[in-house]
Amino acid sequence: MAQPGNNAVGVDNTSRRKFDREEYLERARQREQKELDRAKAKSKGPPVQRKPLKHRDYEVDLGSRLGKTQVVTPIAPLSQQAGYYCPVCECVVKDSANYLDHINGKKHQRALGMSMRVERASLEQVQQRFDVLKKRKDTGSFTEQDFDDRILKQQQEEEERKRQRRERKKEKKKEKATEEEIEVDPDVAAMMGFGGFGSSKK
Ligand SMILES: [Zn+2]
Repeated sequence: MAQPGNNAVGVDNTSRRKFDREEYLERARQREQKELDRAKAKSKGPPVQRKPLKHRDYEVDLGSRLGKTQVVTPIAPLSQQAGYYCPVCECVVKDSANYLDHINGKKHQRALGMSMRVERASLEQVQQRFDVLKKRKDTGSFTEQDFDDRILKQQQEEEERKRQRRERKKEKKKEKATEEEIEVDPDVAAMMGFGGFGSSKK
């Protein structure tokens, strides 16, 4: 009555599953290959040799944006957001202390191609450094003459600033005057007539 082949299929479905050795062996091989590839991509050849730490050759700018008002939107580029922007790592740090920590930190130095190791200084280098510091100390002591010079310079700068402010005010007034030119027109004409009179008197 019932065909043996059909019967076998029906029985197989309800009994224990059979382990297909070949299929799973193939799967294992593929997985191993994948892991190998991933490891290769991660290592990227020999380890990178980084330079030892060097000290900064520029001044850290912490105060240039102090006391300024700026509109901050979440869609603005990172460099114009609130806080200190690091162009090397393209990140924003929220305050000056953290900014200093960041630019002295491992991630930032790594991006600049430096390791955190400090070069061992030779005897000559230490002696040279002492010489440089000694010289700096000598020139650092200033006389009363220097002090007077500095005060004079500051006064001159202050005067210059005042002058510029006055000029700006004048220009603003002028702009206002040109805007109201139509109203002022008769007066200007009278003044010009007066001027003409004055010059003829000479
Ligand atoms: Zn950085």
